[in-house]
Amino acid sequence: MCQHHQNQPSDDANSQPPPDKPVYNDPFPWHLGAFDAHCHPTDTMSSIASLATLNTRVLTIMATRSQDQQLVADVASEHGITDSASITTSSSDTVSPRKGCKVVPAFGWHPWFSYQLYDDSIPNPTYNPHNTEDPNKSTEQDAKIAHYKAVLSPTPQDQSFLSSLPTPTPLSALISSTRQYLTSFPLALVGEIGLDKGFRLPQQRLPDDDSSRDESLTPGGREGRLLSPFRVQMQHQQAIMQAQLRLAGEMGRAVSVHGVQAHGVLYDTIAACWKGHEKKVLSRREKKRIAPGAEESSSSDDSDSSSSKNMPTTEDRTKKKKKAGGKPFPPRICLHSYSGSADMLKQWFHPAVPSTVFVSFSTAVNMSTDGGKTKLAAVVRAVPDDRILVESDLHVAGGEAEALLEDMYRLVCEIKGWDLETGVATIGANFERFILG
Ligand SMILES: [Zn+2]
Repeated sequence: MCQHHQNQPSDDANSQPPPDKPVYNDPFPWHLGAFDAHCHPTDTMSSIASLATLNTRVLTIMATRSQDQQLVADVASEHGITDSASITTSSSDTVSPRKGCKVVPAFGWHPWFSYQLYDDSIPNPTYNPHNTEDPNKSTEQDAKIAHYKAVLSPTPQDQSFLSSLPTPTPLSALISSTRQYLTSFPLALVGEIGLDKGFRLPQQRLPDDDSSRDESLTPGGREGRLLSPFRVQMQHQQAIMQAQLRLAGEMGRAVSVHGVQAHGVLYDTIAACWKGHEKKVLSRREKKRIAPGAEESSSSDDSDSSSSKNMPTTEDRTKKKKKAGGKPFPPRICLHSYSGSADMLKQWFHPAVPSTVFVSFSTAVNMSTDGGKTKLAAVVRAVPDDRILVESDLHVAGGEAEALLEDMYRLVCEIKGWDLETGVATIGANFERFILG
């Protein structure tokens, strides 16, 4: 894509001409660097061996729950990118594709597992095994049941279901272990975090289920269990998410965000973190007062440099990272497998928003329902060209995930009116800015 189109606002995308050549039949230009912005290969550890033969250059691998944090760290120790060179496309790569795939790790707690944490920063935590005048009357079991009755809705009464749930972990313990992982992996993100109004807890595993458990899957997932009627209260999900957003802000890390049936409350929750840090938006009159050629002023000192024609140097990035940290909101946000409307995207791209917001699409989620398929084109067009990413969101690495990733790359290119080279290069540059700033 030519520089002229690079930063066009979404409205202009509707008037872009169709691609000059058929996008779908061209061979895929893997050599330009294709990137999976969000996936879960540690759910199927046996698939990690396939990294050696993948065409994809980098997978962004998410942690979600207690069982996968260390797995993500282990995979990143072996396959993690160590510098920006693994992402950037060098001229020597333009002929033959590099085989072998690297990973960017992300550490975080998914909203589906938020009930397993309790917020110990508040005066009366939902879990408190010593919360009685008579210590003999209190047991950990009672406290656990009280916690789940407080954070789940409707209130569960079934004792065997309640007993089957794990003893909750303090939120402060999650935050300190995530901080350690982020310190060990300086290029790691925070994720997967978010809000989900539709999610219901799976029913307890019955004793007979154990024999049929698929041992190749990392424990803790749904694994085909039926769903219970119980949801995690939104206020609780928000508390878990906000603590992780603050950590990302403090450490200057990007976040990968899950939002299902909660697009309004998701925006409000993230916007609450940057309250008081919004960028100053100049009025027309103020803009006129600025002499032609002079740079627009902004109250934010970490404004996005994506419009710069020159790619930032490593030194620029180090300086920027230092600046990006120490704030109560993350510098960069990816709305992964975005399922909201085109209209709801506008608020994320408002010039006052101090985080750089990217939007990512997957075949697995965005093409899984008729409703999703119908709105995809309008939503993709509503994302500025320099903020779009592509992902698999699969629970396995390898051929199927790569094929679905390629499908979404092709689809985005068709919708945007890009030929494949332009699209892959554009999305690659976006990925680089999302990860490295
Ligand atoms: Zn995910």
